[in-house]
Amino acid sequence: MSDVLISTKALSKHYTIGKGLFGANSRVVRAVDGVDLEIQARETFALVGESGCGKTTLGRTLLRLIERTSGEVLYRGEPLGALDEKAMRAMRKKLQIVFQDPFASLNPRMRVKDILAEPLRAHGYGSEAEIEKRCKELLDMVGLLPHLLRRYPHQFSGGQRQRIGIARALANSPEFVVCDEAVSALDVSIQAQVLNLLRDLQEQLKLTYLFITHDLSVVRQFADRIGVMFLGRLVEVGTTEEIFASPRHPYTMFLISAVPRPDPHQRNRERPMLVGDIPSPMNLPPGCRFHTRCPYAQAICKQEDPLLTDRSGRAVACHFPLEAT
Ligand code: SF4
Repeated sequence: MSDVLISTKALSKHYTIGKGLFGANSRVVRAVDGVDLEIQARETFALVGESGCGKTTLGRTLLRLIERTSGEVLYRGEPLGALDEKAMRAMRKKLQIVFQDPFASLNPRMRVKDILAEPLRAHGYGSEAEIEKRCKELLDMVGLLPHLLRRYPHQFSGGQRQRIGIARALANSPEFVVCDEAVSALDVSIQAQVLNLLRDLQEQLKLTYLFITHDLSVVRQFADRIGVMFLGRLVEVGTTEEIFASPRHPYTMFLISAVPRPDPHQRNRERPMLVGDIPSPMNLPPGCRFHTRCPYAQAICKQEDPLLTDRSGRAVACHFPLEAT
């Protein structure tokens, strides 16, 4: 049964840059451009795509860390845009983020205790003794010992710092966590440990994740569903199994074919050759945004923008989707 936690309707975030006299030299960057998305409660939805495709902007617009240009974000059917500042502050307890860089995201001048206590105090968690107890609980949840509360971020390894970042995100018992390239800065062995931790915490705390990454190999064992983004749009959405077994959008096929494969019999799968350069997000081509690179482009692709259409449970934005295998 469908249990949608967070969804978007025609969500867009555009930036105007280079304002000249009367806006003469201004240009619009369509970082997120009309995205419809539904994330089910307790699922891990991975948002993948190359750098600059708009996935981080989409994640932050979902949390209202960035205000949208148009469209809507709904949390359990309630439009976040309609909430006033006070109501949004209360809602923030449910919506959290883990950032990519554990070095930059923790204040180097604060002890771990204060890093974890900050969001608790901001939401009036309780007395200082209760806050201290909660901070110890949080460290325990992410596999760190309570005496480490007195230390500073520089006294930890990269993986431990990311555990602290996760503990901070969980301080106020959120329901929805955006993990923005949360393991990208870590070594492969540490990545696996942090992914296992995130999976255990999801089970234990009934969390829903939006997992943003440029690296498809990371999400193969981790995500329930995948959304592929290209230049501000979702071009394919499906279960992880379906997307890896049978990508239907040419861009998804290109991304999948770049993922290293453990099975030597499958290593020779042909990688589609992309032609041309990625179009500028300030000067998008007419029709399908991918047509300047797509080896399967036809005349209609240069004129008509394909909609994200449900094709037997798989949503694909392409006039000529690849055959399901
Ligand atoms: Fe390629 Fe045309 Fe499909 Fe775009 S619509 S991905 S150009 S085949």
